[in-house]
Amino acid sequence: MLTKTLPSRLSSNCFLTSSSFFLPKITSSPHKHLNSCRYISTSSPEQSSGGRKEEIVIVGGGIAGLATALALHRVGIRSLVLEQSDSLRTEGASISLFKNGWRVLDMLGVGNELRRHFLDIQGYCFFLSFFLVLEKVAHQLHRVTIKTLEGKELQSINFKDGDPSQEMRAVERSILLKTLADHLPPNTLQFSSKLAKIEQDDGTGETKLHLTNGSQLSSKIVIGCDGIWSPIARWMGFSETKYSGHSCYRGLALYPNGHPYQPITVQYYAKGMRGGFMPVSPTKVFWFFNYNNPSPGPKVTDPTVLKRQALDLLKNWPSEMLELVELSLDDTVSEAMLQDRWLWPVITPPVYKGGVVLAGDAWHPMTPNLGQGGCCALEDAVVLAKKLSNAIKSKQGSIEDALRSYENERWARVFPMTVKANLAGKIQHSKSLVVCYIRDSYMVPKQGKPGKLLEHTNFTCEPL
Ligand SMILES: Cc1cc2nc3c(=O)[nH]c(=O)nc-3n(C[C@H](O)[C@H](O)[C@H](O)COP(=O)(O)OP(=O)(O)OC[C@H]3O[C@@H](n4cnc5c(N)ncnc54)[C@H](O)[C@@H]3O)c2cc1C
Repeated sequence: MLTKTLPSRLSSNCFLTSSSFFLPKITSSPHKHLNSCRYISTSSPEQSSGGRKEEIVIVGGGIAGLATALALHRVGIRSLVLEQSDSLRTEGASISLFKNGWRVLDMLGVGNELRRHFLDIQGYCFFLSFFLVLEKVAHQLHRVTIKTLEGKELQSINFKDGDPSQEMRAVERSILLKTLADHLPPNTLQFSSKLAKIEQDDGTGETKLHLTNGSQLSSKIVIGCDGIWSPIARWMGFSETKYSGHSCYRGLALYPNGHPYQPITVQYYAKGMRGGFMPVSPTKVFWFFNYNNPSPGPKVTDPTVLKRQALDLLKNWPSEMLELVELSLDDTVSEAMLQDRWLWPVITPPVYKGGVVLAGDAWHPMTPNLGQGGCCALEDAVVLAKKLSNAIKSKQGSIEDALRSYENERWARVFPMTVKANLAGKIQHSKSLVVCYIRDSYMVPKQGKPGKLLEHTNFTCEPL
């Protein structure tokens, strides 16, 4: 059975989307126009001998997949999301969402609902040293200081300085995903639906999806939101992702009676490592550290082992960090090998092939050094939905035109971001004493106004 019964929280929603639009036939070549031939009616999924037929299938129910489904829903287009797991992902504790992410969440109509859960972070506090010593976090709200460990004040940073529109919150991934999913129409999200094989039918122009449970679907448009290991990206000719040489531990510490921290991101820079923490809510604090790890071992999932490894790596760090690791909820502690893939012009395949297109990490996996992978996945969602809506509902050009326009607009944004995030990591986690000295003495202290520092969070797009 293809469709797993959805949890009641999802099926209780109203069905708001008009599904009575028409999609053109899609040719199998990315270079042909996609809407040149016949049209089919799409009022409900059809059954045929080849399996179920859909208009738009999104593979992957992560940030990109759910946000894209919701953006399509907001413009009146129905889609089906296939997620391989039997529930929404909780791994990954929290991610920082900056103003570009919040702008998209507002466009999707879920911004204020999410803001209720998460504290508004006021700014950064950096501690710089080759060798960290115990140092109490001392700072004033709204006036964030960068100090050397000897106490020399280097600079004050407040996110709103130079850019009052900046907004940053540490968002629990599980709450973000649940909120997006809760706003989808019933039967949009199918769990336990793992894509095994994808192929294009040159005759119909449709894409066939074979699932591991033996069922098949065909769809006019397939949006690959299947994350960093995307089988769809591989099928489209994208290379494997590249390990950046850095790993990251992260988790969520629970203080049932409230934590003592101000709503500020504290970051420590050390030789070969960078880490820190920020409050998520009055009772939860997100912590992380990235470190230079040229030869990562096998993936560890046992939280007791992960905590022990994290504490070992942090043994000379401030006591706050150690306490945060110890107080972490087991199921929030994880280690990730940081990967990316650069979208070289000409060499890298186009983001679409026939009616198949990528979004989020499936297209542009990036290291998390700028906190932008999830934000960019959200941006992809609204831009892609708008382009498809222009083609499908407003009949402004073909679907191929829409996908090409999506590629052009998003490539110019995500390729530089991927490179910048990678280079930032090289400097932030360098083991070279010279690089650490330059970083700690010049780069971090003199990085200027937050408006400039977070310039990459500026994002504009057409309203949905
Ligand atoms: C350590 C770390 C810290 C990060 N911090 C930040 C941050 O602070 N801010 C930020 O914006 N971003 C951050 N990111 C990046 C962010 O997590 C990703 O960019 C984001 O999760 C991408 O979302 P996605 O939906 O594209 O992919 P994913 O979240 O990976 O979702 C992909 C989904 O596809 C499903 N799937 C995969 N294969 C199949 C299949 N064959 N069939 C069906 N379903 C399938 C998966 O189960 C999953 O649910 C961080 C990443 C890491 C590793």
